[in-house]
Amino acid sequence: MTRRRVLAAAVFIAAISVLSCSGGPAVTAEIMNHSYSRPDEVVTTNMFLDLDVDFDREVISGTAAFDIKNKTGADKLYLDTWALRIVRVTLDGDTEETSFELGDSLPVFGRPLAIDIKPHTKMVMVQYETTADARGVQWLKPVQTAGGKHPFLYTQSQSILARSWVPCQDNPGVRITYDARVHVPAGLMALMSASNAKEETADGVYEFSMPQPIPSYLLALAVGDVEYRAISDRCGVYAEPGMVDKAAWEFADMEKMTELAEEMYGPYRWEQFDVIVLPPSFPYGGMENPRLTFATPILVAGDRSLVSTIAHELAHSWSGNLVTNGTWSDFWLNEGFTTYFERRIMERLYGRGRSEMDAMLGLKEFEREIAEEPDSLDTALYIPLGQRDPDEELGWAPYEKGYLFLRLLEERYGRERFDAFLTRYFNTFAFQSMTTEKFVSYLKKELFEGNEKVMKELKVEDWIYKAGLPDNAPRPKSDRFEKVEAQAAAWVKGKPASELRTKDWSSQEWQHFLSKIDQPIAAERMASLNAAFDFSSANGEVQRSWLLKVIENKYEPAYGELETYLVRVGRRWLVRPLYTKLAETDDGMFLARKIYRRARPGYHSVTVSTVDAILRWKG
Ligand SMILES: [Zn+2]
Repeated sequence: MTRRRVLAAAVFIAAISVLSCSGGPAVTAEIMNHSYSRPDEVVTTNMFLDLDVDFDREVISGTAAFDIKNKTGADKLYLDTWALRIVRVTLDGDTEETSFELGDSLPVFGRPLAIDIKPHTKMVMVQYETTADARGVQWLKPVQTAGGKHPFLYTQSQSILARSWVPCQDNPGVRITYDARVHVPAGLMALMSASNAKEETADGVYEFSMPQPIPSYLLALAVGDVEYRAISDRCGVYAEPGMVDKAAWEFADMEKMTELAEEMYGPYRWEQFDVIVLPPSFPYGGMENPRLTFATPILVAGDRSLVSTIAHELAHSWSGNLVTNGTWSDFWLNEGFTTYFERRIMERLYGRGRSEMDAMLGLKEFEREIAEEPDSLDTALYIPLGQRDPDEELGWAPYEKGYLFLRLLEERYGRERFDAFLTRYFNTFAFQSMTTEKFVSYLKKELFEGNEKVMKELKVEDWIYKAGLPDNAPRPKSDRFEKVEAQAAAWVKGKPASELRTKDWSSQEWQHFLSKIDQPIAAERMASLNAAFDFSSANGEVQRSWLLKVIENKYEPAYGELETYLVRVGRRWLVRPLYTKLAETDDGMFLARKIYRRARPGYHSVTVSTVDAILRWKG
């Protein structure tokens, strides 16, 4: 989901504070990589989860047992927690408890759990339960699902939310394998970022195994009334019964995408590639949980127009899940590589015309962001986060500037050489984490072959550590967008909507069209536009572009539609611009708050915190 100078490793120690735990001795909490864990001392290597999901109490409870490696003979294991209730901790299967301390809570980071261990301790078992403040867990009432009969639960662990449902070393630099047993009410299915059942079990007990080591942000659980449809031997979709056939049709190209990706950058290493379509409150387009991508139902548009998100999540199976950003400041190593890879898949599957339109729309979003804050280091590739919450929306640089940087390298060295370089990169660093510094030195050695002049010539330091877009950025081009602009100009000059040449336009073309009719539009022209093209029933992205026009032009007949959209859709990227636009005027702010009061209970915490800030929400 969703950046400098060359920094010494010490800078990553974001804070050192002494926390006193009420009644107990002080816990010294050291925060590195947004985590209290100290993997250089004691590292967890494998986890066994035994969990019970209680929809009545909205609590996940059970045990997390860790195999640990004590590298320094330390006497404490540090885990991250966020609003967890820790019941007891035992070592190596003993019945006797060991002592532990929970430090005070810090905003963003939660509380450190310091567990007393022995130098020879091999296994630590924590019994715990979640609380109502579990930021990474979304409990949905039946009415918030498509079927309306059963409750639903999903987790979102990226970036540092895993600690709100599993005590763990919540640090992208630590990888673990895991197994799990999860008990859910009969009639519901449990699925994880692991090997999954394809059918419901009679007793509501599900077992999982994830033999490839993953960072904690890829821990994931979903529970609901879902069914499976296979697309191939290794690809398929899970969704609520009323949605599953539509989803299988929409994502029918998953196997083809996987084959193309393998042709470009080597074998898919996670065995299974499935997608689960979640209820609409899911805050992201997709989340690349290994073996089981989580996706918003907005992608099921009925015309395969939004499947680039599936290509994106698939691409993360290489960039992100296999070679992982070492810190959240290196997020572009996940997202820039993935956006580049996604567009290469889209190009192979649907042609250069399609991938160039995606690149142009992405660039436009990024340029808008630069225009707002030209000097912000949030528009650098490496974003020096310090203690900032990585779950704040970080903007487009990791994605779009990252994409353009890789495209620049491709254009300089040619596809064949660049692809060989990327394949080697994925193979060399498979199942490891990567920092920006380490990548740049690999790049210098392997692609630049030690030629220091190329660093200057390509302005690599500017790309990575400075704000904005360097002047040697590649420019995506699309003839199709030029044709769209001609039609938009004609309409602005007064040509009736019904006479425009819009046959076979893709959703990208419609979004571009709507962004180009940028001037006050009278109510009757808004009405005739919608009468001609029916934006109200377009896919979720085109509809959002239309609703932006509705807000800009205070087109009241569509306010009902706006409200329905904002209450139904929880994907942050879709709703944020609408709230932002509304908040620009007093009337708009009033309307936004009125709608948000209804919408907020259905949103996930990451969307809530973004919209709370836009609307200065105090409840
Ligand atoms: Zn991504």
